Amino acid sequence: MVAVETVRGPVEVDALGTTLMHEHVFVLTPDVLNNFGDQYWDEDARVADAIEKLTTLKASGVDTIVDPTVIGLGRYIPRVARINAEVDINIIAATGLYTFDEIPHFFHYRGPGTDLGGPEPMVEMFLRDIREGIAGTDIKAAFLKCVVEERGLTADQTRVQNAICETHRQTGVPITVHTNATHQTGRLALELYAKEGVDLTKVVIGHAGDTNDLDYLKWIMDQGATIGCDRFGVDLYNPTAERVATIAALCAQGYADRIVLAHDAACYMDFFAGEEAQAMLHAVLPNWNYQHIGEHVLPALREAGVTDEQLTTMLTDNPRRYFTPSGS
Ligand SMILES: [Zn+2]
Repeated sequence: MVAVETVRGPVEVDALGTTLMHEHVFVLTPDVLNNFGDQYWDEDARVADAIEKLTTLKASGVDTIVDPTVIGLGRYIPRVARINAEVDINIIAATGLYTFDEIPHFFHYRGPGTDLGGPEPMVEMFLRDIREGIAGTDIKAAFLKCVVEERGLTADQTRVQNAICETHRQTGVPITVHTNATHQTGRLALELYAKEGVDLTKVVIGHAGDTNDLDYLKWIMDQGATIGCDRFGVDLYNPTAERVATIAALCAQGYADRIVLAHDAACYMDFFAGEEAQAMLHAVLPNWNYQHIGEHVLPALREAGVTDEQLTTMLTDNPRRYFTPSGS
């Protein structure tokens, strides 16, 4: 039996079913909420709302979400576990560090090349999340999440990437890297990972679907990596119709086995805290929610010539392969 760790414990990879490969439950800023939570956070209301949204998602046929919420995005696993106890859906947790450039001061003075030196605390933390459990729970992380953004591989970002690569080499767990498709930073990530001995078939280049540059997308997949067409509903970055046309073109050229789908949505994201911001968000991006793929994108992909077999490949087979350790 090959199993993957989830918030509710190990699940056989064959049982993951229809999987959205990049969805958050919450994206939060704990430092702000600790001080302004009376204004911006209602724990019970948010938990109830999340249970409702995830229950609806499951009822629409999605069995698993892969949640790349890590340090820098407000990961708090006990809350996710409380929600998951009320919803029959698999949630796969991540470890890693989300920063576009600088690392938090927590890490600044310790680790290789710093004033105090010593071992890399990030590696120790990532390994603990994967091997022992997150924050004293027995919930384990099953993949690594990091960022290579427009600012590229700054000194701090390189330190994060080295910690990600080291953890991958020790554990084999797969990597999802947030990239900037306009600036093609997936190239920077993959060139570094190749040099660092990462198994590129275990890498998702997140947000690659924000571009329709087929040469760039095919270059990523020709390295063995998978493209995340994972921001369906964020039409400001790339309209749904164009995202669909790009995927259809790639499927027609035989690339369905290296494409995964998602929205990069959340039950709640405090980047848009407050009623006014929430209202504006829903007005500007009305389809940025968990239901968009099922309701609009899959019918549009079929209409564009993508077969049901190719949809199953993208939604079920590719996630299963990603979470199946190499050699098993
Ligand atoms: Zn995300």
